[in-house]
Amino acid sequence: MFFRRLFRAGMCTLCALIFVLNSRGPQQAAAEGAEEPPAASPPSAAALSDAYRRLSAGKPELAADEWPLQLYGSGRPVKEEPAETVRVGGVPVDARIADELRAMIADARGAGLSVYLSCGYTDAAAQEHIFRRTAAKYGSETAQTIVGLPGESEHRSGLAVDIADRYYAEKDSSLENTKLFAWLKEHSWEYGFILRYPKDRKSITGHVYQPWHFRYVGAEAAAFMTDHGLTLEEFLDLYKTGDGGVY
Ligand SMILES: [Zn+2]
Repeated sequence: MFFRRLFRAGMCTLCALIFVLNSRGPQQAAAEGAEEPPAASPPSAAALSDAYRRLSAGKPELAADEWPLQLYGSGRPVKEEPAETVRVGGVPVDARIADELRAMIADARGAGLSVYLSCGYTDAAAQEHIFRRTAAKYGSETAQTIVGLPGESEHRSGLAVDIADRYYAEKDSSLENTKLFAWLKEHSWEYGFILRYPKDRKSITGHVYQPWHFRYVGAEAAAFMTDHGLTLEEFLDLYKTGDGGVY
């Protein structure tokens, strides 16, 4: 497959994906909507290294172990529950993201949109229940790609919110067609939020496309990730030091 060939060209899979998406542009990649890109001649190892270096050199000066950049899921449990939660839009969230979330909701409503928050922070018991319910319907393996294993879901950190334009018994990818989603996709980074599980990035994030799940990462990181079409995993890859370095 395409990315494997890039990998053999001397670049890790994530870096290769960064290069490809960066050179094609995130909008073009999303518009194509293909799970697997068409076959093409892989760029040389030197070209990949240059692209990676350019991207890495332009990254914001942040400590990748800061609280907004913690990576959860796919074997990474949430290590700390929020010290303080407050309710925003009817759901509890980590108090540290409340102001930005309130501002984002207010501005979306100011733009004439309906905003409904269906999930913020969830505790261990709620996550067990949600996982069991999802696994009963789709099987355990698929459930992990939808809601994550109990204890690994970002919702336990209080840094993630599910946002839709009204109550949906079942959230699915058709939510991408709402005006609210279009607005959030364009503006959420301004408030420090990213669309955490974008389309066609399951191999990187471990999660299916979720055009309702937004994660707070901070304004600088959100701007850079949005500019370059990066997932949180790919962004943090830029801060890794050496082989097997920690985020
Ligand atoms: Zn969610």
